Amino acid sequence: MEEQRWLKTLRNCQSLLQVSEFAATCQRCPLRKGCRQVVVSAGVTSAKLMLIGEGPGADEDAQGLPFVGKAGQLLDNILHAGGFSRQNNVYITNVVKCRPPGNRIPTEEERQACLPILRQQYRLLQPKIVLLLGATAVQTVIDPQARITKVRGQWVEKDGVWFMPTYHPAALLRNEMLKKDVWDDMKQVIQRYREVVDANHFPKRKI
Ligand code: SF4
Repeated sequence: MEEQRWLKTLRNCQSLLQVSEFAATCQRCPLRKGCRQVVVSAGVTSAKLMLIGEGPGADEDAQGLPFVGKAGQLLDNILHAGGFSRQNNVYITNVVKCRPPGNRIPTEEERQACLPILRQQYRLLQPKIVLLLGATAVQTVIDPQARITKVRGQWVEKDGVWFMPTYHPAALLRNEMLKKDVWDDMKQVIQRYREVVDANHFPKRKI
């Protein structure tokens, strides 16, 4: 499909389900040839908390859902401690929807190719808070020069939407010392969520 028609069809999607169906047929970049399926999202389409990671890994590619491997289980535990879950109040996606070979970082071209899908998801979801998981998400959404070690834990506000950069859960599997930082970032998310989404939201773990 030529460029203009691809973009027009995507922008005409009126629901997140339509975006998923559209993305499932996408072959816009070479990543599609090397993966089993397009992994678009998980969670609820009325969520006000959006999570953006890097891209699907082997488990996600096999199951067709984002964050279902070890890193995903850790993410679910962190969300649970914060009183969140993909069944109730979170929408999860990635910068690229197809698995990069060998789980390498997606190239700039691949990220840019897939970015319109992420933008359309964002437009339709209209989140109040976005948790950016890892350097790829932060650099794609906030600042290409950003270093995750410098910017994590610091809010960025854009047009009334609050973006919180933090480490990708896969980084926590490699270095347990980062767990405290991520929980500190999650505590800020919980507090902001109580301010801008639901004053009656309570975490499971004491903050
Ligand atoms: S990564 Fe994104 S742009 Fe590339 S083929 Fe998959 S859905 Fe399309």
